Amino acid sequence: MISKDLQNALNDQINAELWSAYLYLSMSLDAESKTLNGIARWFFVQWMEEQDHARIFQKYMSERGAKVELKPIATVPKEWKNPLEMFKDALDHEVEVTAMIYDLVKMAASEGDFTTLSRLQWFIDEQVEEEKSAADIVTELERAGKDYSTIRDIDATLGQREYKKAGPLA
Ligand code: MG
Repeated sequence: MISKDLQNALNDQINAELWSAYLYLSMSLDAESKTLNGIARWFFVQWMEEQDHARIFQKYMSERGAKVELKPIATVPKEWKNPLEMFKDALDHEVEVTAMIYDLVKMAASEGDFTTLSRLQWFIDEQVEEEKSAADIVTELERAGKDYSTIRDIDATLGQREYKKAGPLA
């Protein structure tokens, strides 16, 4: 059984994952409106991945007999000054998500809920990837500065990103 406290915390995490999805969809649409179609594609894949994250928690809770509660999703920003600002925001956000996952880990550990800990391990590993991919793109964009043709090249590369269903759902 999942404790009431953990159930509430997991429901908050589902909301946070869906908020992340919304944030990345907003970034995708902003990039699309500025003809940065590769960046738009990259964030569109990110939006799909975040929905997978929410789904993994939902499935896990159902399997353990815990009640999923869908809460309202807060408003997200809708415009960014440039791609660098966008990816810096994405990186900051992922660092926050990592901290949230760690808090869940601490709670599950303190309750001796080893099953939840086992599920959370996938998210701990996933966050390493999430932070690294955003940080790498921030580095690239900082290097590019205002050089439009380099930004165009980065945009083209990011546009090659393919969506792959998250491991636990595959
Ligand atoms: Mg996520």
